[in-house]
Amino acid sequence: GGPRPPRLDAQNLQKSFGDFQAVDDVTLTLEAGEIHGFCGPNGAGKSTVVKMLSGQLAPDAGQIAIDGGTADLSTPYAAQQAGIAIVDQELSVVPALTVGENLALGATSRPRGRAATRAWRAEARQHLADVGLANLDLSTPVERLTLGERQLVEIARALGRRASLMILDEPTATLSDVEIDRVFTAIRKVAAAGRTVVFVSHRLGEVLALCDRVTVIRDGKVIATTAAADLTVSQLVEQMIGRSVAAH
Ligand code: ADP
Ligand code: MG
Repeated sequence: GGPRPPRLDAQNLQKSFGDFQAVDDVTLTLEAGEIHGFCGPNGAGKSTVVKMLSGQLAPDAGQIAIDGGTADLSTPYAAQQAGIAIVDQELSVVPALTVGENLALGATSRPRGRAATRAWRAEARQHLADVGLANLDLSTPVERLTLGERQLVEIARALGRRASLMILDEPTATLSDVEIDRVFTAIRKVAAAGRTVVFVSHRLGEVLALCDRVTVIRDGKVIATTAAADLTVSQLVEQMIGRSVAAH
């Protein structure tokens, strides 16, 4: 056999809203086990791209292949079945439900019986511990949590989906430095297990510290995909704004 196909291969994606072209021409690959950063100015089209990768938006044109084959990404549920989990920029935890109920939301299978329930709860606690919420009780209503803690519960839920591709859209916006470190540790564990992570962020230092490769998106187009080890923050800024930072 030839080389292994990428985990995800997106070719020439386009998406417009009315007559506004939000995503113009996005081609990128995601490899198994890599942490892939998406950077770009506000409004560049990053969230629109990840919504097309996660079945929330249908592309107007272009193809998305998973493991070299066509995948049904026509709905969020279909994308979840294809192994894709997303933590959206907007929080989706339900404040009136408990932490445990939120972790179970949208799960593809429910534990049946006492032993299975016990195992599920142990796993849920492990995912909470992985994001630094080891002391949080599953019966705590989410409305009692801080915004940062709610974001961490969302990430714990994505960990629980054991997705082969986990997409995090600006997950650190509401987190403290200590919480960010915990999330990074959890993300590195996911990637070390051979799964793929997409990390969308405009915090460039964070992106370079965490990611293997970085794709810069500007005006709905891919400007470059570069190994993070070959990039400095100022080079990344140049790619994002389209001119040399040092120029007068
Ligand atoms: P980013 O995540 O890079 O900040 P987005 O993908 O959210 O950018 O948005 C890209 C552009 O598309 C923005 O100008 C935004 O206002 C517009 N846009 C995004 N979603 C919609 C929508 N549902 N309807 C109309 N315009 C949208
Ligand atoms: Mg966005």
